Amino acid sequence: MNLLFASSNQNKIREIQALLPKHIQLIGLKDINFTEEIQETADTIEGNAKLKSEFIFEFLKTNKVNTPIDAVFADDSGLEVMALNGAPGVYSARYAGEPKNDIANNSKLLQELNKTTKRQAQFKTVIAYTNNKCTTLFEGVIKGTIAYEPRGKNGFGYDPLFIPQGQRSTFAEMDADTKNSMSHRSKALQKLLNFIANSNEDYPPAPVDTFVFDEYRRNSFTKQIIQRKDISNLFSMWQSDGDRTILWWRLSRTGRA
Ligand code: IMP
Repeated sequence: MNLLFASSNQNKIREIQALLPKHIQLIGLKDINFTEEIQETADTIEGNAKLKSEFIFEFLKTNKVNTPIDAVFADDSGLEVMALNGAPGVYSARYAGEPKNDIANNSKLLQELNKTTKRQAQFKTVIAYTNNKCTTLFEGVIKGTIAYEPRGKNGFGYDPLFIPQGQRSTFAEMDADTKNSMSHRSKALQKLLNFIANSNEDYPPAPVDTFVFDEYRRNSFTKQIIQRKDISNLFSMWQSDGDRTILWWRLSRTGRA
């Protein structure tokens, strides 16, 4: 199976290839000589992942490439802070404006939170997977809190400020393997890999509840979930079908009110 990852980031491509079973070959945008930057114009993380994956899927219909491609996927991530109603979210990379600058973004975040002790936040990755049937979305979330000052030198982005739930260190104080073992990105990827591994079977796997969402309701549902202390884990798969978005979901409860 040949899978195209809509990314030019060779590090990400290598990292993901290492996790794939041998019969899946990962192909990056450079391998098909696609060098344009895809404009991320959606106002949600889900929207941008979907837009990138579907853009490349359409591109492949009209442009010949040497390797036959079975499916395409793309990812998009961001940090959602509860006291800021989910900001910076989809705008995480350029929170403090152009040009993109991690130190300025972290300073702005601390500034925005300086009058509150409400520090809950989560990192979220959405992977969109497009084949000739539809686009399916896989979400990976890690909950945590925002530190009062940056700590640690590893990683990138908001890592020096993010302390995962149940940990004392920030992501930037952890080595890459420790961070990857719990990260939003690896959780989303794992869901995609499970999906591909089971893709001969019917899917999605027997949902507990199923909802049909429009864009507005999807955003407000996501915000409500961040704020709920009784939910520790949301297994969810967003499936896009024309104008509708269907969420297949299963919750784990923490027992807290
Ligand atoms: P991307 O979609 O993976 O490029 O992520 C967009 C932005 O979200 C990055 O530029 C970072 O600012 C932030 N971000 C996403 N994932 C992480 C992470 O694992 N650590 C720190 N910041 C992240």
